[in-house]
Amino acid sequence: MQFSYIGPQIESVLGWSADSWISAQDWAERIHEEDRENVVNFCISQSRDGIDHEADYRALTSDGGYVWIRDVVHVVRNEQGEVEALIGFMFDISERKKTEARLIDMQRELEALSFKDGLTGVANRRMFDSVMELEWENARRNKRPLALIMVDIDYFKQYNDCYGHIQGDHCLQRVAKALASAATRSRDFCARFGGEEFMLVLPETDEGSAAKVAERCRSLIFKEQIAHAQSQVSQILTISMGVGAIIPAAGDDISSFIDGVDRCLYRAKLRGRNCIASED
Ligand code: GH3
Ligand code: MG
Ligand code: MG
Repeated sequence: MQFSYIGPQIESVLGWSADSWISAQDWAERIHEEDRENVVNFCISQSRDGIDHEADYRALTSDGGYVWIRDVVHVVRNEQGEVEALIGFMFDISERKKTEARLIDMQRELEALSFKDGLTGVANRRMFDSVMELEWENARRNKRPLALIMVDIDYFKQYNDCYGHIQGDHCLQRVAKALASAATRSRDFCARFGGEEFMLVLPETDEGSAAKVAERCRSLIFKEQIAHAQSQVSQILTISMGVGAIIPAAGDDISSFIDGVDRCLYRAKLRGRNCIASED
């Protein structure tokens, strides 16, 4: 448990002079508190069993900082095969640890981005599916109503034809922003469902209240006053909506509920667009 040789290079890595390392105690004391117990126990047991090993930990520097170290330990045996000594090498792995931390951050960011629609910034279809499933389960368990509003922009193909795709994209951003602001309760949720279709998921909401939110959506889009010269219903951009609400029971399933709301939306289109349709 005593050092018989310490390379002078250690001073450039940790700041402590070579002659300040006398026993294994000095080594243990210069390990970060949070890493110490595990590392010391692991290294001692491996050394006792005569097994080569390595450990990553934060080592204390002479100026009070920490450096990520990979300690690689070789067991030296005599001719009888008994453990005679240990030879250890310390490698500065701070850069690698920093890279690892950056990668973890990036992964988190990527995960967040993969639930977001790239164009409008509202949740994407994938997120909608997850949220819908969660709220459905919740509503079923608590026997509470869950409402869904399906929004589709009227004559959007003509909008693109008339103003171009770039302007079309910009229009989608404005619509998404307006719709997201229409639902105000904390668990209300807005997602881009497809090209120019959006969904509002409204927990704890019956059909009457959902219809009011849909009406608010219509007036918020109207307030935007987005010119649409080619629309056959108005000179400004309008939306049509299907509204439905359900207290999910044992036999119900999400996709039939969504199909029902989709049929309502279709009826709103047939009725001349720029309007709201619900089941009854
Ligand atoms: P309706 O009133 O019946 O809904 O007519 P519509 O033209 O809006 O309906 P349809 O679903 O046939 O057309 C949707 C159009 O939306 C077609 C497509 O060019 C456009 N679109 C879908 N996604 C995007 C997008 O990301 N950007 C742009 N600019 N346009 C999109
Ligand atoms: Mg559509
Ligand atoms: Mg449309």
